[in-house]
Amino acid sequence: MPPRRYHLTSYGCQMNKLDSELVESKLRQRGYEAAADEASASVVLLNTCSVRQHAEDRVWSKLGKLRQRKRSEPGLVVGVLGCMAQEHKRYLLSRMPHVDLVVGPSAFGDIDATVDEAVARNAQIAATRERARTKHEVAGAGVLAVGQGVSGDAIRRDVRVRPHRSQAYVSVMRGCNMPCSYCIVPTTRGDEVSRPIADLVDEAQRLCDDGVTEITLLGQTVNAYGRDLTGQNATLARLLRALHEIPALRRLAFITSHPNFLSPDLVDALAELPKVARYLHLPAQSGSNAVLKAMRRGYTVERYLARVEQLLARAPDFELHSDFIVGYPGESASDFEATAALLRRVGFAQSYVFKYSPRPGTLAAERDDDVPEAEKERRNQVLLQIQEELTLARHQALVGRTVEVLVEGPSKVAGRLSGRTVHHRLVHFASDDLDLVGTYVPVRIREALGHSVVGERLDATAAEASAHDPVEVQRA
Ligand code: SF4
Repeated sequence: MPPRRYHLTSYGCQMNKLDSELVESKLRQRGYEAAADEASASVVLLNTCSVRQHAEDRVWSKLGKLRQRKRSEPGLVVGVLGCMAQEHKRYLLSRMPHVDLVVGPSAFGDIDATVDEAVARNAQIAATRERARTKHEVAGAGVLAVGQGVSGDAIRRDVRVRPHRSQAYVSVMRGCNMPCSYCIVPTTRGDEVSRPIADLVDEAQRLCDDGVTEITLLGQTVNAYGRDLTGQNATLARLLRALHEIPALRRLAFITSHPNFLSPDLVDALAELPKVARYLHLPAQSGSNAVLKAMRRGYTVERYLARVEQLLARAPDFELHSDFIVGYPGESASDFEATAALLRRVGFAQSYVFKYSPRPGTLAAERDDDVPEAEKERRNQVLLQIQEELTLARHQALVGRTVEVLVEGPSKVAGRLSGRTVHHRLVHFASDDLDLVGTYVPVRIREALGHSVVGERLDATAAEASAHDPVEVQRA
């Protein structure tokens, strides 16, 4: 029997992309093979996101298309994984009866057995349908795994399954215990479960043995890492120090942090560990205390600023990245002005701005979504404009400087490669030498753009000559 070929599409965050790598590891260990594309796969899996309605709508329409295909290919196995599976459970099967399996993030640990079960049941259904020569709606196997199953952390990761040679993500914890009123994550990903430091060091070492030099640690509130590992004194600061000892590791980053867990020992670690990337993603969400209270974020603007100042006092070369939500129920014009003021005051190097989107099952969804869509859009554009000015100013301050770039691959512009600095800044330079991918090269910055900078790669001698230049400018 030829091996079954699967195709897995990931939607949403980095955590989902990493979960997909783990799911692929497990399927390959079971003998499944990756198909060249979705059309040539007999098992089609979608690892989904529920953080905004738009993300879900894309999956609903995709499932509609797969229903068409399944009418002519009843043996096709269709699976919905991840946050939508966890959020919608049985409703998903009733709305899309052709779906064969629905698997939540907490049950990825034995995804291979679940897929096997769906494949077997689907084969029986297809055979019955064939025998009955019926042209009715295609029924799916309806396998449901949405309880607290075997966690994805139980999967011994096949470190070779990753999209980038020199870069990898490592999930340090699952779930979130925070009460943010607008967020569906605690519902879809459950309580916080941190992985022991020893397991993480082992996985990182195996990745570095396989050529990785940059690792990004993942967690919904990554700096709350370890608080559930009672008696193990596991903290993000201690984890960073342990990983820092791996000789082959050159860069260490982590996303996403919560202001309440930016502790003094973590700040010390960020200041003292040179391999730690020099940026911190610290979502503020709003600059209004009234909105922060309604969002149940658990801090005030003053406390947020105090944490930022503590960090910059110890590590002045750090840059801040943030997330903002505009149009939260009840957000007044002055609340919004306070958010714009916070953005300018901190001078974030980069921010993601989102229009509030009510998520069924969240506390905020019980409130009137009273900020008109047009006003949400206006506020969204205002913040993006401010952010673009701040980012451009930083990019302009880099012109004439030399930065170290980890080359990630071809840029969208032909004849150029792109990569990132220790501040996660996007750099493009002229070259089509793909052997540079995964290496660290010195680039002299020549041009500042809104979302990136352009430079020229320096050869060894020129780099030597510019060695006296500070590699990265101080904050603009
Ligand atoms: S910290 Fe808040 S916004 Fe972030 S994942 Fe947890 S509940 Fe959601």
